[in-house]
Amino acid sequence: MSFSALERTQHLASLTGRQWDLLIIGGGITGAGILLDAVSRGLKVALIEKGDFASGTSSRSTKLIHGGLRYLKNFEIGLVREVGRERAIVYANARHLVRPEPMLLPIYHDGSIGRITGSIGLWFYDLLADVDKTERRKMLSREETIMHEPLLRQEGLLGSGLYYEYRTDDARLTLSILKKAVSLGALALNYCEATGFIYDEDQVTGVRCKDIFTMQEMLIHANVVVNATGPWMDDVMNLHQQSPSNEKKLLLTKGVHIVIPKSKIPISQSMYFDVPADGRMIFCIPRDQSVYIGTTDTVYEGQLDDLEVCDEEVAYLIQACNHVMENVTLGEDDVTGSWAGLRPLINEDGKSPSELSRKDEIFVSPNGLISIAGGKLTGYRKMAERIVDLVLKSPRLKDLQKIECRTEDIRLAGAEFNSEQDLQLMVTSLYEEYSLFEKAQIAKLFFRYGDETAGLLSTAKSLTALSPEDALVEAEVAFAIHHEMAQHLPDFLFRRTSDVFFDPEYLKHRFMKIASVFARMLNWNEMRCLEETREVEQALHK
Ligand code: FAD
Repeated sequence: MSFSALERTQHLASLTGRQWDLLIIGGGITGAGILLDAVSRGLKVALIEKGDFASGTSSRSTKLIHGGLRYLKNFEIGLVREVGRERAIVYANARHLVRPEPMLLPIYHDGSIGRITGSIGLWFYDLLADVDKTERRKMLSREETIMHEPLLRQEGLLGSGLYYEYRTDDARLTLSILKKAVSLGALALNYCEATGFIYDEDQVTGVRCKDIFTMQEMLIHANVVVNATGPWMDDVMNLHQQSPSNEKKLLLTKGVHIVIPKSKIPISQSMYFDVPADGRMIFCIPRDQSVYIGTTDTVYEGQLDDLEVCDEEVAYLIQACNHVMENVTLGEDDVTGSWAGLRPLINEDGKSPSELSRKDEIFVSPNGLISIAGGKLTGYRKMAERIVDLVLKSPRLKDLQKIECRTEDIRLAGAEFNSEQDLQLMVTSLYEEYSLFEKAQIAKLFFRYGDETAGLLSTAKSLTALSPEDALVEAEVAFAIHHEMAQHLPDFLFRRTSDVFFDPEYLKHRFMKIASVFARMLNWNEMRCLEETREVEQALHK
């Protein structure tokens, strides 16, 4: 199967024209992980997503592949161990998208973490998560801390802990999993919404769905259906016509991040620090030309498709930053972008949102629908393994050969490197072969597309009638349409790339070119171009 936006008609025909072993609803990281696990075990499997891939929580996270430090607070030892191990696997399988990120944890006289508790906590975390020797925590004195990050408030500063997180691009990680699955024979389609189920003797045997472009209703037949819709899990369970219930298995909490130009907050490295107002901890992470700060954590009961960032949430994050940074006075006008996401937490009576476990849970409905939510980006592979193990127990799949999970050794799309040296060699050879393009541009593309960058640069080089700058834009947009199913401008600006947040200056000079390539390739008229631009403006502050 291809992953081209231009082959939608063929994809729709394939979706509806065959009997699938497994159909997955939801194209976030959970659904993507299940798709890859299932296809690599030989299942005929398809996935539908009502918006763009990763347009839900999976593009709205803190973008860290965690070792699970915060789970230690709730003594979730097993979870720290599993997440630590998974982090190493995700890194090995997607090195271009998962990069080590030193994180500074400042310790203040009046903070929630003391020198001794911080040191023991980080040591225990290294041990449980089996952190590589080169990345074990270091405790820094007050003077060393100031040298590391001169912008930190010095009053009351006792020192800091320096440990490692891994930074990722959540949406690209999701796409890279989907692309790998598609290359192995799976089918994934965006803008296709599940609206109900098909039954055989009260058992779910497929899904009714709607093509969002044409509003045409369709039926997809599958032996097993998995609901991997994250925050929408309860809603999709309730599409069951015979006995819709209002029971809520999830508690949703909203997490907001804001983006500030690096010039306004020129920190030299990532930090994780206390918010004095409530003792919570937030991240401050430099990325390209920007710094992003987050997150909040408040119970959310509004419309899932209409999530907005409120002034109070922005003020909370700004105040926290201003408090911990010396000579930095951020105001609301400095915020150039923001995003809000919903954590699909498994509800437990009597527990506050911060006490609720971040672990995943599987629910099997009496009609056979399997639903999963909770968890983290980091643990997506293990969640997928558990789901596919369960799917394979279905009596409807009794004739299939039962193959063990193999995703531990599957490199994601663009990630065919055996080591960090391998990766560095590839970057160097790209610099040499494509010297007509700026090194910084090549590096940026490489940490987005990995080993697929060479093909993209080769296309750009062949566009001799264009300037190198325009040729790169043309080639990247064409790649997103042909190989990553980008259908709308926001798909490209927010999820195939994230320049809209992290390199807005670069985007400002290229926006018209990007829009014109989309319009030409997807035959948009003037009205459609205007609608697309409006959508970008709205999405920028959601
Ligand atoms: P989603 O990504 O929300 O995907 C569900 C998809 O289902 C959506 O795309 C939606 O459009 C689709 N859908 C819904 N209904 C239908 C339907 N009827 N038909 C078809 N499709 C449908 N984890 C980490 O590991 N590291 C972090 O740094 C981190 N930070 C976080 C910060 C915040 C603020 C939040 C909210 C979460 C964070 N997480 C983090 C957790 C992580 O982001 C989520 O666990 C993960 O993205 C959930 O993925 P998902 O696929 O289950 O849900």
